[in-house]
Amino acid sequence: MTVDTSLVQERRLVTPIPGPKSVEVLKRRSAATSAGLGMAIPVVIERAHDAILQDIDGNCIIDLGSGIGVTNVGNTNDRVVARVIEQVQAITHTCFTVAPYESYIEVCEILNEITPGDHPKKSLLVNSGAEAVENAVKVARHYTKRPAVVVFEHAYHGRTNLTMALTAKNIPYKEGFGPFANEIYRMPFPYSYRWMGNASTITEDALNEITLKIEKEIGAHNVAAILIEPIVGEGGFLVPPAGFLPGLSDYAKENGIVFIADEVQSGFARTGDMFAVDHEGVVPDMITMAKGIAGGLPLAAVTGRAEIMDCVHAGGLGGTYGGNPVACAAALGALESYAQDNLTARAQHIGAILRESLTMLASTYPVIGEVRGRGAMQAIELVREGSKEPNPEAVNAVVKYCQSKGVLILTAGTYNNVIRFLPPLVITDELLRDALGVLEEAFASLR
Ligand SMILES: *Cc1c(COP(=O)(O)O)cnc(C)c1O
Repeated sequence: MTVDTSLVQERRLVTPIPGPKSVEVLKRRSAATSAGLGMAIPVVIERAHDAILQDIDGNCIIDLGSGIGVTNVGNTNDRVVARVIEQVQAITHTCFTVAPYESYIEVCEILNEITPGDHPKKSLLVNSGAEAVENAVKVARHYTKRPAVVVFEHAYHGRTNLTMALTAKNIPYKEGFGPFANEIYRMPFPYSYRWMGNASTITEDALNEITLKIEKEIGAHNVAAILIEPIVGEGGFLVPPAGFLPGLSDYAKENGIVFIADEVQSGFARTGDMFAVDHEGVVPDMITMAKGIAGGLPLAAVTGRAEIMDCVHAGGLGGTYGGNPVACAAALGALESYAQDNLTARAQHIGAILRESLTMLASTYPVIGEVRGRGAMQAIELVREGSKEPNPEAVNAVVKYCQSKGVLILTAGTYNNVIRFLPPLVITDELLRDALGVLEEAFASLR
């Protein structure tokens, strides 16, 4: 079945942002929805395709956020839409642990194939990134019969009780939501821009400090898992220095610790490789995936070594909706798009455009302290001129300016001073350059 979801890939403003229709509906939003829900841009979206979001006033906005790194294959991707329509008419839901269906199995077969490493692998499908992380930790504890989980500064792993505990940042994620799960130990992350020590020995210094802390404060034999984002997402797109992930993974292996890569944000072609760990050839024991997996439908997965994934008794894992058939059909469409539309190459190309443009901006505007990231996962950290003091006010001003001109960008960072770029990997060069032109105007307007 084919449906026309197309939308001209062009920025177009017909009213101020927000327009009058959005203002009306946003009043109902305030009245009807929990105040605990944030909002990045105050418009109400009616349609979307690839990298354009069209609001109910007819404004066409360039999407540089992909719904937080989800619609990598583009919004309303043709392959995703066609398979979803077909699937929803065939089976809406049976619950995989009640009566299985083939699409769930097919998604797992593909994930077992495309995730790093050629060892035997098995997979489990769930609904959200947080649920994937929770399940990875459950399985690692069950497998090792050990309690402790090692996590890092600046980490984000979700909003459920366990994943809040695994997450580093208090406001907004944890404030007032405790008590939190125990047996979680936080280690320093080699944040190169803010590292106090010697830049040339950052990898070995960080690894030494972490392994010493593990030995002295936990005991390596008590550690079930080391859980890390291969490129830190919400924490501000922190790229670990070369050798850090391989060193950590080797340490885990030597000590019988399950090494879990949380690729919920960095996965699925985003960084120019299918997974961010591919960059240094790191092979995690388990990998958690979500966001980019199904082109926008709610699906998440854990893939791991078969002997680890199989250690749990039947019935120990599962959930009512996990791996819903419609979400699996969407994933099959998205996975086909990753395989056939050259999206890792597109991510590298987008990364090069972003990098060039952001580096140029940084040389003109000293408020940009650092440009960093990999592939189509790039960020800028804003500081006060002549220092590294975080500058969240400048971030807000730039974001607001871009919004008013029809460009949606997202923020990040422990210090709320990072602008991150996560465009759909199908964004055209013209649209990306148009958005970057608006970004430049935004910096010019700060003066
Ligand atoms: C978004 C995110 C999560 C949580 O995913 P949800 O689907 O929002 O539960 C976990 N880990 C990382 C690295 C993320 O970016």
